[in-house]
Amino acid sequence: MSPVTHFFTGWALANSVSLDRRERVLVTVACVAPDIDGLGIVADYFTRDSPHPLEWFSTYHHSLHSLPFAIVVAAMSFVLAVQRWKTAGMAFLSFHIHLLEDLLGSRGPDGYQWPIPYLMPFSHACQLTWRGQWALNAWPNFAITIALLLATFYLAWSRGFSPLEMVSLRADAVFVGVLRRRVPVS
Ligand SMILES: [Zn+2]
Repeated sequence: MSPVTHFFTGWALANSVSLDRRERVLVTVACVAPDIDGLGIVADYFTRDSPHPLEWFSTYHHSLHSLPFAIVVAAMSFVLAVQRWKTAGMAFLSFHIHLLEDLLGSRGPDGYQWPIPYLMPFSHACQLTWRGQWALNAWPNFAITIALLLATFYLAWSRGFSPLEMVSLRADAVFVGVLRRRVPVS
């Protein structure tokens, strides 16, 4: 699924337990983190007309969709959080929900499924795929993303904060204020 869907999934998960602001960021970022390996697409784009175009995207995409990287992400969350075990555990879960979402619906336009090399870089043996995988732009992905957006609005309205808190507390307060003026919290 797309990084946007992963982001809002991570946010919803982070709100399912009581975490502070930084811990919510860690759990949300953990749900997007595996796709860092897709950033090679930028390098490929800028070198596409050069005599030696890079092919980082096709070479490295999904190489961080693995258990070892999940452990790295959880360990970083552990170091940066106050509620260390809880945040690391939630970040580990968040990372794996990303993998599950990719298994469900990330088939490329050419029909190619990116297998998830779960034990990379230690072993190529475990390549996860699911035969029923739907396409990246198929309707279930839109439906899931819209449902997550609605959940994000509801959470902001009821709890008083949204993902905007990662960028600016002021912007977040304005956003929550607008929502609560529309639908007063009784
Ligand atoms: Zn992914």
